[in-house]
Amino acid sequence: MTKNIALKKINQIISLSNKNNLITNFILKKNLIWFFNNHDENDLKLLYSKASQIRDKYCGKKIVVRALIEISNYCSCECLYCGLNCKNSSLERYRLNKEEILSSIENISKNKIETLVMQAGEDFYVRKMMPQLLREIKEKYPNMAITLSLGEDSFNNYKLWKEKGADRYLLRIEASNPTLYKKLHNKKNVFTRKKCLSNLQKLGYQTGSGMMIGLPYQTSKNLAEDIIYFNKHNFDMIGIGPFIPHPETKFFDKSQGSVEMTLKAIALSRLILKDSWIPATTALGSLDKDYRIDAIKAGANVIMPNFSPEIYKKQYEIYPNKICIKEENKNAQNILEEISCACQLPLSFERNDRIKNY
Ligand code: SAH
Repeated sequence: MTKNIALKKINQIISLSNKNNLITNFILKKNLIWFFNNHDENDLKLLYSKASQIRDKYCGKKIVVRALIEISNYCSCECLYCGLNCKNSSLERYRLNKEEILSSIENISKNKIETLVMQAGEDFYVRKMMPQLLREIKEKYPNMAITLSLGEDSFNNYKLWKEKGADRYLLRIEASNPTLYKKLHNKKNVFTRKKCLSNLQKLGYQTGSGMMIGLPYQTSKNLAEDIIYFNKHNFDMIGIGPFIPHPETKFFDKSQGSVEMTLKAIALSRLILKDSWIPATTALGSLDKDYRIDAIKAGANVIMPNFSPEIYKKQYEIYPNKICIKEENKNAQNILEEISCACQLPLSFERNDRIKNY
């Protein structure tokens, strides 16, 4: 019965997304909220299949592989949802040294993967080592795309890292609404975060943002506004995953984000941003079952196997039970093949740079 309405709304979302003015954004927002509040199975099936078609048309029929190394779990921040927050004294902290990082990259390169993502908490040690490290990686692996995800930093540091070889940067906005952002972060505000994202884009980074779904206090309206914020800035990558409560955080007793809401956010972001890279996030793989396949069927197109040294994987505990703890590095190719087979999409190990025209 609602199928025609859903189809009409999907087509409206697809066609209005490139207008980006007050009136079209008002209509877009209404349509996004309609989907976030809709649980009709047929409507959602239609949404996911349209999102997959848009992905295939704008990004090609493939799943892109990006390898992740978590280089330090030290963090000076107090984000209320994150297990790495500096107030969590029960977490054993680690930092990879240069040799450990280079040996992980050697392994990534042997697996023929051409994108490397280095992620960490906000750690002064990592910042200090970065310029020299980037130079060495670029020298040894000139064709490797280097993505950083090291949190907020100064324009000058972002600039220096770019000059030394970083190509891309991931910094999720987490929540674009200032009041909501404040409720989730001690001693931080969304304006600094937005400034960082704009600096990264100015410096020519292929820039990724994103959000968590199901955070305490978050509403459907917030999610719709986040997607409209992504569209306004036309980010190259959008990472979306469910919030998973961590026992050693202020939000230990809050409920987990829902899979359905996460899949809807992925599909709606795909309809609107069209040619962005959208990962099937590790968080979606870490629930009662592995939902990364469902994410790809809802329009996602990136998978990020974890190549951190096995002994440290457990310690990068932003949330509990990360799937990568169960997935050994030596089995990475098999796990990727399984996902590819289930989604009937081939894997691509190439760099897969920005598609968007600027
Ligand atoms: N310091 C970096 C990396 C942070 S960890 C930065 O600031 O960008 C990477 C992402 O994990 C975060 O951006 C956040 O969206 C996600 N994350 C943190 N805690 C989480 C939780 N409890 N559940 C799900 N995702 C979480």
